[in-house]
Amino acid sequence: MIVNMSEKATEEQITHVIDRIREAGYNPHVTRGTERTIVAAVGSGRRHEIEALQVAPGVDNVVAIAQPFKLVSKQVHPERTIVQIDGVQIGGPEVVVIAGPCSVESREQLLQTAHAVKRAGASMLRGGAYKPRTSPYDFQGLGIEALKILSEAKKETGLPIVTEVMSTEDIDLISEHADMLQVGARNMQNFALLRRLATSNKPILLKRGPSATVKEWLLAAEYLLSGGNRNVVLCERGIKTFESEMRNTFDLAAVALARDLSHLPVVADPSHGTGKQSLIAPVSRAAVAVGADGLIIEVHPCPERALSDGPQSLDFEGFEKVMRGLGEPLRRTASLPHAAAAVS
Ligand code: PEP
Ligand code: MN
Repeated sequence: MIVNMSEKATEEQITHVIDRIREAGYNPHVTRGTERTIVAAVGSGRRHEIEALQVAPGVDNVVAIAQPFKLVSKQVHPERTIVQIDGVQIGGPEVVVIAGPCSVESREQLLQTAHAVKRAGASMLRGGAYKPRTSPYDFQGLGIEALKILSEAKKETGLPIVTEVMSTEDIDLISEHADMLQVGARNMQNFALLRRLATSNKPILLKRGPSATVKEWLLAAEYLLSGGNRNVVLCERGIKTFESEMRNTFDLAAVALARDLSHLPVVADPSHGTGKQSLIAPVSRAAVAVGADGLIIEVHPCPERALSDGPQSLDFEGFEKVMRGLGEPLRRTASLPHAAAAVS
C-alpha cells in the first residue's frame, strides 16, 4: 500500500503515518519527492489499518501498489534514480559507457585496454576477476591478482571499476578494489547473494537472468532495495530464445519496459546480448534510442586471443568506431519520454 501525503503535509503528520504503518505490521519506506512525500507500507500486515489512514491529517489518498515489486516500482518512487559511482552518474542526462575486457587476463592487457577505452570516451572500466564459466575447464579468472590489476588501472586512469561477484565469501575482498559490484546473469536469483549485497554500501549492477522475465528481474532488484541498498542499476544482457544465430536474444523492448515500470537506471549489454562484434554498434544505438542509461561493452586488445568472449569483444579501433557512431557527447535526445533527469 502507498500513502500519498498531501503537498502541505507537515513532518509531524508524516511521522504519524510512519508510526501507524509500523503498528500495522508493515515496514515503512519514505520517498521524499520534489513536490510530495510518499510513504509505502511494504511487507505483510493488517491492510485495513493502512486503508484507514485515508482520513489521517496530511494524507491525500491511500492506494494499493499494483506490482509485486514495491520499492523498485515507479509508483513508490516516481522520480528517476541516479546512481553515483565514484563521480560517475548512471541515470542522469548522459549515457554512460562502461567498457573493458570480459576477463582480466594480465596486467598489460588490462592497463592497455583501460587507457584505450578512456581515450575513446568510456567513463567506467569493466573486467572479470571471478568468472562464471559454463565449463569448469574454461578460464575461471585470476581472482585476487585481477583485483589488484583493476585497482592499478583505476589509479592510472581514474576510471571507476565494476567487476562480478559470484559468492558471498568474496564480497568484502572485491569491495576493497571495486566501485560497483556486478551480479551476473546466472546469479540473478541467487537470493543469499542478493540478501548480502543488500547490506553492502557498493552500487550493484544487476544483470537480467538468461531465462528471467522482466518481473522476476525487478523482483530480484527488490531484494536489494528492501534489504537497504537503493543504488541498483539494471542490465539487460539478452535472453534465451529459439534463435541460434546469436548467443542470446537482446530484448530491446525490455530496456524500455524496465524503465517504464521502475525508477532504476537501465544499461544495455550488446556484447553478451548478441555475442557478435558486428552487432555491437547497431544494438548500442538501438538501446540508446529506447532510453538506455548506459552501455556495457567488452573490449580486448586482441579479441582472437581472448581467454573468454573473444567473438563478441571489440578491438580498440572497433570500440572507437562504436563510440564515434553513438555521437559526442553521449546525451539523450530531447524527444525521449524518459529524458527528464531527477534526483534519487
Ligand atoms: C560478463 O559480464 O562477462 C558476464 C559473464 O556477463 P553475464 O552474466 O551477463 O553472462
Ligand atoms: Mn563476458
